[in-house]
Amino acid sequence: MKTQMNVAIDGPAGAGKSTVAKLLADKLKFIYIDTGAMYRALTWKAVKEDMDVNNQQDLNALLDKTDIQLINRSGNLRIILDEEDVTEKIRGSDVTNNVSYVAKHSLIRQKMVLKQQKLAEQGGTVMDGRDIGTAVLPYAELKVFLTATVDERAKRRHEEQLEKGLPSNFNQLRDEIAKRDKLDSERDIAPLKKAEDALEIDSTSMSIQEVVDHIYELVVERDGSVE
Ligand code: C5P
Repeated sequence: MKTQMNVAIDGPAGAGKSTVAKLLADKLKFIYIDTGAMYRALTWKAVKEDMDVNNQQDLNALLDKTDIQLINRSGNLRIILDEEDVTEKIRGSDVTNNVSYVAKHSLIRQKMVLKQQKLAEQGGTVMDGRDIGTAVLPYAELKVFLTATVDERAKRRHEEQLEKGLPSNFNQLRDEIAKRDKLDSERDIAPLKKAEDALEIDSTSMSIQEVVDHIYELVVERDGSVE
């Protein structure tokens, strides 16, 4: 039986969805579900096996023999693909620049969505992605569409990379983010789109903590059992 609400957080690439969703889930003692990581994990395996990301049949066959698990280990979400921990590996640019092609296929989406719905059936989740409010959890009790300007999103990614001591090029990052948004928004199935009943939060001039606190207040308003 479902006892707690589900919170859906959608929005374009690099808007801070996963950071916000994770902090919010910790604060609510909910489970954080990163749906993008599921598409990334399949993409990582497809790239490793040198597959054509436009070939739906081959990708679908690959997904059928692939096990993707999201596991909470000491408060951190780990992505396990066929028993291998790929949490960090799926963040590379080879995956980032190919994932939108993998995620556009209907057969792939159907299976991913079923898995995501199953993970949320007990409630008490914060799930982030592109189609959570529109397709995965259309009855989620709270839906947020988190945005920021493309320049701000690229700036955040750029600073993040530099902080990690990794090479980074702002213009290239901005172009990649804009391209991914275009692919995700223009695909035929479950494109990136604000659900009609989602609340839009523009985080361009907000800190991560301000966004988390704001959504937390919305959860408290809607769910009497959360304080
Ligand atoms: O959230 P993240 O940036 O890791 O997502 C990677 C990609 O996975 C997105 O650009 C999109 O193509 C795909 N995705 C999706 N539907 C979701 C989550 C992610 O199509 N619910």
